[in-house]
Amino acid sequence: MASDRLLQPLWDFLLFRHYTLVSSPFFPVLLAFSCYFIFSVPFAILDVLGERAPLFEYKIQKQRRPTVGMMLRTLGTAVYNHLVFVLPAVLITNVVMPAPPLPAVAPTVWELISGALGVLLIFDTQYFFWHLVHHKNPHLYRWVHAIHHDYISPFSWSTQHLSAVELMTVGFWSNIDPSLLKCHPLTIWTLSVFSIWMSVEDHIGYDLPYSPGAMAHDIHHQKPSSNFAPFFSHWDRLFGTAVTVKPSKKIDKEK
Ligand SMILES: [Zn+2]
Ligand SMILES: [Zn+2]
Repeated sequence: MASDRLLQPLWDFLLFRHYTLVSSPFFPVLLAFSCYFIFSVPFAILDVLGERAPLFEYKIQKQRRPTVGMMLRTLGTAVYNHLVFVLPAVLITNVVMPAPPLPAVAPTVWELISGALGVLLIFDTQYFFWHLVHHKNPHLYRWVHAIHHDYISPFSWSTQHLSAVELMTVGFWSNIDPSLLKCHPLTIWTLSVFSIWMSVEDHIGYDLPYSPGAMAHDIHHQKPSSNFAPFFSHWDRLFGTAVTVKPSKKIDKEK
């Protein structure tokens, strides 16, 4: 073992047993897309079952259910964007700026947690201001962000129903932010799983107990001048854009 750190056995397992996979420049994309897919499937099943689903009582906009056509369209957008834009970008980046070899030593648990939290806070700030500007400027909204608002009632697959420009911007930050904080690859991959989960959870459309983001982001899709931050709420509270009402009780009544 290269160290006696708590995460060293896990890191050794990945390095020695799965080196070809984890050292591939495509691994981060494969990991992120697989997470998007795996996290979305259970909620897609709930959506197809509708009222018969055990968790239907938690559905935020009960009267709006995604059709299978909507699910296929949004998943199709995600697959298309990855094949046409993300994979070529990874290929070019790997030629121009190849990633350094994987280190032999694992990160400490503290390095992993503090690095991941730091990146989440930076990303949350970047996306908050980007998102605010893209809602305030009609041209930017129309050409870059509007596609994500095709659906007033979000559902899991719609998480990555994004324009190529938005996906590439988010992807760029997801690459740059961890390198600014000199994060270990294990931190980056853990963070990727965690942040994809949080972005899918933002869009599931079910206000499950212990689901922090679903209600806030569902409200953003109903009232797009609110809740611009993806993960935390401090920027929205500071800018007066935080809305926390239960839309099923209040926003629906306004219609
Ligand atoms: Zn959204
Ligand atoms: Zn928006």
